[in-house]
Amino acid sequence: MEVIVSKFGGSSMADYDAMTRSAKVANLHHSNIIVVSAVYGVTNHLVSISTKSCADDWEKVSEILNDIKTKHYNIINKLPENKELKATVDKLLNELTTLAKGIYLLKECSPRTYDSLVSFGERLSSAIFTEVLKLNTKKEASLFDIRDVLITSDDFNKAAPLIEKISKECDKRLANLVNQDRVYVTQGFIGRSTEGHTTTLGRGGSDYSASLIAEGVKADVLQIWTDVAGIATTDPRIVKEAKLIDEITFSEAAELATFGAKILHPTTLTPALRAKIKVFVGSSYEPEAKGTWIKPKVDNAPLVRAMAKKSEQALVTLSTPKMLDAHGFLFEIFKVFNDFKVSVDSITTSEISVAMTIEKDVINNKKFFAELSTLGEVKIEKDLALVSLIGNEINHTANLAKRVFSCIKDINVRMICLGASKHNFCFLVNEEQSNAAIQGLHKEFIA
Ligand code: ADP
Ligand code: ASP
Ligand code: MG
Repeated sequence: MEVIVSKFGGSSMADYDAMTRSAKVANLHHSNIIVVSAVYGVTNHLVSISTKSCADDWEKVSEILNDIKTKHYNIINKLPENKELKATVDKLLNELTTLAKGIYLLKECSPRTYDSLVSFGERLSSAIFTEVLKLNTKKEASLFDIRDVLITSDDFNKAAPLIEKISKECDKRLANLVNQDRVYVTQGFIGRSTEGHTTTLGRGGSDYSASLIAEGVKADVLQIWTDVAGIATTDPRIVKEAKLIDEITFSEAAELATFGAKILHPTTLTPALRAKIKVFVGSSYEPEAKGTWIKPKVDNAPLVRAMAKKSEQALVTLSTPKMLDAHGFLFEIFKVFNDFKVSVDSITTSEISVAMTIEKDVINNKKFFAELSTLGEVKIEKDLALVSLIGNEINHTANLAKRVFSCIKDINVRMICLGASKHNFCFLVNEEQSNAAIQGLHKEFIA
């Protein structure tokens, strides 16, 4: 028997129709374990509860809580009378309200509290989707709490999965439950620390959860069902002529995900690749469309396969004459990055300066910058986006740079990274010019 893990994102959970459509897709595509995101928009709502509660705006918080309730009740009300489901949902909504009130009263939302707060999205959607699924399958459908197997570090907000523990718990609690007559619905995005606290894997993390569970139960296939019919040559919201890709290698797809293509959370493919699981990306709105298969090897390897952008980047430049002819300097810089758990997306260096891109939120980390400033003069530039070309042999192809820069000649390029990966060529531009850069590149290299 082939074991299939399917993940449905927020738009596939948006309302009763979307949930019904997704349930039918899961049934038709023989899912054994279904990982779901929160109902569309609910995680954003939960995130704003944390800020509005802290900002003393209980009226706004109440409005949001009501809206969350309405979104879920609109679905429940379309189902046959189900007292048990209503009781489950009411219990979750009451808990959520109490937690929001606690944050409001204390004016404090620690990373641990934040994770408990945002976990309600997936806990609510999975309970409701299980009942929708029951109406659309002959199999026995049940809800499974992913936190019983998805064990993580206690780095709240962006917890790291503990792979060996996940594998052990999956063996013990999930793998032998999987059979042809049963289907399990579980939550994406959330996990549990070894101390028993709810954690989350970072925004968009449900793809990653699904891949981790697929690895844990030694699945054969991971299906990612979303709102576009597969991976395209770029985000169709930026270039509407973007073409769907039938097949793509793990390396190319991973590069796309890392460099901002929202279709896959950056780390989605790591567990699947490790466990040699085939990955499919398709649309729950058009399940009959071809979709994209991600494989270790594919027949064609074009110079440029796709392009992506990563928004909300900041550029940190550190300069000091001490770097001249000195050794150990980069080590000292990266030690600071390591101590503060800050990751660098791209980097260039010159004789006396290093320029690195980081996520914009890091800018608020005063202690980190204070420490960095002890090593040299630090400059920060904001509102930037990293634009990437993804393909093959990109670092070995004559004339490529000329083609890239002539099609974006009116755009100021702040930094360039080429050479480290044969799959990637990326450069930094102002956020407001990033779509134009992608459109120019797409015209030159794809259509
Ligand atoms: P889900 O809620 O299902 O996880 P997301 O919104 O996270 O869905 O991801 C799907 C979106 O990713 C698409 O609607 C599309 O706008 C965007 N996207 C970005 N890059 C690509 C790409 N290369 N191919 C397809 N979609 C992309
Ligand atoms: N619901 C979470 C989010 O919106 C996780 C996900 O959808 O992947 O970030
Ligand atoms: Mg997503």
